[in-house]
Amino acid sequence: MRPWAETASGVAATSRTSEKVALLAGYLGSLDPLSLTVACVFFTGRPFPAADPRSAGVGWAAVREAVERVAGAAPGAFGEAYDRSSDPGRAAYDLLATRDAERERLGERVTHPDASLPEVQAAFAAIVEARRPAARVDLLAGLLERLDPLPAMYVVKVLSGELRIGLREGLVESAVASAFGRPVAEVRHALMATGDIGEVARLAREDRLSEARPSLFRPLQPMLASPARDAEVIAGRMASPMWAEDKYDGIRAQLHKRGREVRLYSRDLHDITRQFPDVAGAARPMPWDGILDGELLAMDGGSILPFARLQNRLGRVAPSPAMLAEVPAGYVTFDAIALSPAPGEPVAPLLDVPLAERRARLESLERPARIVLGHLEHPDSPGALDEAFDASRARGNEGLVVKDPASGYTPGRRGLAWLKLKKALATLDCVVVGVEVGHGKRHGVLSDYTFAVRDDRPGHEGALVTVGKAYSGLTDAEIAEMTHWFEAHTLKRLGRYRLVEPVVVVEVAFDRIQASTRHGSGYAMRFPRIARLRLDKGPDEADTLSAVAALTA
Ligand code: AMP
Repeated sequence: MRPWAETASGVAATSRTSEKVALLAGYLGSLDPLSLTVACVFFTGRPFPAADPRSAGVGWAAVREAVERVAGAAPGAFGEAYDRSSDPGRAAYDLLATRDAERERLGERVTHPDASLPEVQAAFAAIVEARRPAARVDLLAGLLERLDPLPAMYVVKVLSGELRIGLREGLVESAVASAFGRPVAEVRHALMATGDIGEVARLAREDRLSEARPSLFRPLQPMLASPARDAEVIAGRMASPMWAEDKYDGIRAQLHKRGREVRLYSRDLHDITRQFPDVAGAARPMPWDGILDGELLAMDGGSILPFARLQNRLGRVAPSPAMLAEVPAGYVTFDAIALSPAPGEPVAPLLDVPLAERRARLESLERPARIVLGHLEHPDSPGALDEAFDASRARGNEGLVVKDPASGYTPGRRGLAWLKLKKALATLDCVVVGVEVGHGKRHGVLSDYTFAVRDDRPGHEGALVTVGKAYSGLTDAEIAEMTHWFEAHTLKRLGRYRLVEPVVVVEVAFDRIQASTRHGSGYAMRFPRIARLRLDKGPDEADTLSAVAALTA
């Protein structure tokens, strides 16, 4: 881990892309295949490959306890160190370096044995798989004990998903290409196909990049759509007639199937099969193998139910038979990522096949009633596109995703081949009731806001109830000014969180608002962002709980 950490420090120390790539390439070129795989994955800032459904699952409490124990520091020391840098890795480094300095001052010669990259990853796996929190702390402490402060810092950074050394995934791709003398386009293509930079590095090393393929039960990042302002903009970008699919308001899911084995993966690559036994069960007897892309919805006999109904089913790992009967789910499929050419034949990737052909393949598949094809229209003018948009809304859908029929499937990319057109965003005027220091470049300022609406239920009038929390979308100058104001109007400090005088009104935009127990109001916003300050409004002009309820109806 020590050479990896030294390379990472070198990368962090230079802002020049070419130097970062050269440093990385030199290091990657020196590694054996197994260490190479792990090194690349860690450089993407993750403990496991992106396509690995294991999530890190190591919370702040485990890191704090393990670091304080190994450093022999007092309880609370980690939190204080964290407050100085807003970086858990840096906080770990500070405490461990202080421990070593203290021991040396007492005349001890301090050395740590170090651990190999595969050993570190094996320790990560054990930590993530440990059931009891205490076992996680023990395992993490055991690992940190073997490391110098610098590699320990990077272990904490990778484990907490906050590497922050100015390394975009693209630079790791360039470094792999340069280390083994392969074209960067081939590395990129192989990465899209497998979603695993470690495997791609190994293939590059062995000159086998052309063998990279999607595999069943290893989910790929879904292809993404870019937002478009209106029909005119879309018509200006896409050839006519256009290819306009309904935009369904459900949960993005990839369906993987081989024989009778079916798995569903969420947008963040988690296995959600147990939540949708009805959909997985319906797909099981189908005579094809492959990977489909689509959206999970609450669906009753072919008609789509509002998202709020599906919401009732979520949050349970396995829905009860009663719940399955009350809110049946279905799958709208709009793309095929890989398919077997004929029953029983091996699955072939379709990433480079044009959308029009992928759709034709999809249409020819036998489907159960619960799996339906996305609605597709071919409008030939901005006016016709607007009509298609209204028709989609009338069917209960969110809008349109307009796609280039000649485009390939590019996992994880948000390009111009898919353009989404949605209804205007809803906004609510909310009162800021709490603030916190931000992360990254915003660590010195109070940029995370918790905000509330006015409770107008009889007997509660005047109370403020929280509806959400968001990073500020304000300008740096506005944030600096507001930080000043919030410092002067802090009512109470609760660790990093400060309760502030409920005076400042902000306009908050969001995709959707729904019932939730997360906030005091009983509602939570999906993707909230602070749109602007409303210094023209006082807290008594903020929106009310009934306005929120009306938006969810
Ligand atoms: P948004 O979540 O607003 O960024 O919109 C993109 C999401 O729309 C995708 O991630 C899908 O979950 C969803 N979606 C619904 N219908 C479609 C469709 N026909 N094509 C692509 N994405 C769709």
